[in-house]
Amino acid sequence: MADEVQNYSMFNSQALVDVVGDTTDAALEASSLKKFISVLGGRFFNWGQRKSLFPLHLGIKCCALEMAAAGGGRFDAERFGVFFRSSPRQCDILLVNGPISKKFADPIVRLWEQMPEPKWCIAMGECAISGGPYYQSYNILEGVNTLIPVDVYIPGCPPRPEALIDGFAHLRKKIMKMGVKSSSDRVGDAPIIIGDD
Ligand code: SF4
Repeated sequence: MADEVQNYSMFNSQALVDVVGDTTDAALEASSLKKFISVLGGRFFNWGQRKSLFPLHLGIKCCALEMAAAGGGRFDAERFGVFFRSSPRQCDILLVNGPISKKFADPIVRLWEQMPEPKWCIAMGECAISGGPYYQSYNILEGVNTLIPVDVYIPGCPPRPEALIDGFAHLRKKIMKMGVKSSSDRVGDAPIIIGDD
């Protein structure tokens, strides 16, 4: 009996939310306010995202030392609004900075899938781009793009911290251009290659 009462009240709460939601939706639609709010909200979200980039604090190999230097006192990436975080659920950039072994392929895809949309991927250094010194090795993948779509490539072995900071600046411009677009909607977009302009 207690279960029935509980289910009945849950049903009613859901029904009430549905009715209020449908009515509000129809009213907003009729007044074009919905479109206005969605454009304004989208622009505000995009501004917030590009002004505060949150890369995942993931170090794979020697390029990770350059990443650490970029975040340290001398280069201080934080003054450009770049904040390294240790949980994929708080991040919007997957910064891949070393060779990806076949054993590490599944965990890195899992990290990517745990990140909320819209999210972005940077391949830093030759290993992340093509396998680098391990190119065509038996256990190393030929670039992170074989698993995840890459937005920015930063060549070098290793690239300097300035190049990484430049990569973030280029990504910021791309975010501004793309708006609030999920990674699956961006498949096929031309990636940015640092040093190619
Ligand atoms: S690209 Fe060069 S510096 Fe970077 S992880 Fe590979 S071997 Fe190390």
